[in-house]
Parts: sequence; C-alpha cells; structure tokens
Amino acid sequence: MSVQEDNYLNITSELDQANVALIAVSKTKPNEDIEALYSLGQRAFGENYVQELVDKQAALPKDIQWHFIGHLQSNKVKYIAPFVHLIHGVDSLKLLSEINKQAQKAGRVINCLLQMHIATEDTKFGMDVTELQEALTASIHLPFVSIKGLMGMATFSDNQEQVRSEFKNLYQHFQNMQSNHGAPFTILSMGMSGDYKMAMEEGSTMVRIGSLLFGARSYNAS
Ligand SMILES: *Cc1c(COP(=O)(O)O)cnc(C)c1O
Repeated sequence: MSVQEDNYLNITSELDQANVALIAVSKTKPNEDIEALYSLGQRAFGENYVQELVDKQAALPKDIQWHFIGHLQSNKVKYIAPFVHLIHGVDSLKLLSEINKQAQKAGRVINCLLQMHIATEDTKFGMDVTELQEALTASIHLPFVSIKGLMGMATFSDNQEQVRSEFKNLYQHFQNMQSNHGAPFTILSMGMSGDYKMAMEEGSTMVRIGSLLFGARSYNAS
C-alpha cells in the first residue's frame, strides 16, 4: 500500500496549527487507500473525474465530504449534484448557472469556489477579474449556489518567486472579494503537494494534497 501515513500525520498537525483545511486528493487511487486515511480521521477528499467520483461516493462511507477539484463540464454536473460538498473549479458563468439548475433539482444548495486564472500557462483553467466579477454579480440571482471563495493553481515551475507572486495575486483578489461582498467568502483553496507550505504563507485556507499522501499517481490506471 502506498498511503503515506506518516506524511498524513505530520501534514495534518502542521495544518491544524495554522487552521488550514486539508483536502486529500485521491484521484486515480483505489478505495482502500481512501479507507486508510478515513480510518485515521480524514473526511474531506478531492476528485477530478466525474465517473470516478460517482463510483467512489457510492462505495465509500456516507460521511465523506467529496470535493470536485477538476475541470467540470456542464453536461456532467447532474451526476454529482446530489452529494458534492464543494466544487472548486467553477470557471464560467455558464457552469455556475448549470450547477444552480442541478442543485435546485436535487433540492439543495451547492457550495462553489470560483477558479481564477493566475498561472502564466494558458493550459490551466480559470476566469480573469472581469469574468469573476460578472459571475459574482450574476450569482445574486442563483439561489441554489453559494460562492464560498476562490481557487487557483500556480504555474508548474521551479521558479519559487513566480509561484509566490501568483499566490500573492490570488490572495489579493480574495481579500478584495471579501471587502466588496461581505461575509460568506471564507475559503481560499490554494496549494498542492509541491507548494502548499508557500501557499499557507501567502494566506491559503484550504490545501489540496495528493501525491504526498497517496504516493505518485499512475495515470494509465484511470
Ligand atoms: C491533482 C490535483 C491536486 C493534487 O496534486 P498533488 O501534486 O498530487 O498534491 C491538487 N489540485 C488539483 C486541482 C489537482 O488536479
């Protein structure tokens, strides 16, 4: 088994002291690995693929909070709407509207984070500031979604200063959102295995960690 229990214990104590939430990113990993962290007390897990998430949710304990952290296509929202705890990567108003529609059908309010494009690569998804404002304004009329904050992914780079400045930029927008829109923006989802310490230094409230907890992923498995 590749679950890194020592890493889990070290990371959770580090995060607890700073009051930062841990999403254990379990994409491509088998249910037994999730159960291993579950038995240590972990309840929040993150997945990137809709079908994989649906299968795992059906098979695993019902008190797990499932976070969808990948790129979500509008036509797949309906499959996760009945149970998803937080959707991190909302990157268009179209998607937000679809989540609102499917949440209403499922009889619930779905928590969302707006994904901001902070990296220099254009392969990473996310909205610019204008799109973000549009989505926020429109969300007033979408009663079945609750926007809790922002999510972002830094450039995949060894250049620490670049990554840090992207985190600073995201944190700045998070603060602006808070002061312009008041109370409900409490979550800033930023930081992964390679950069979570820096993300914490720059104001993250929620980190998404996969490989440090579960070992490296083999993508052909999915
Ligand atoms: C896979 C993934 C992670 C976890 O990455 P690690 O480097 O394994 O910690 C975090 N966030 C997103 C959006 C991901 O797709």
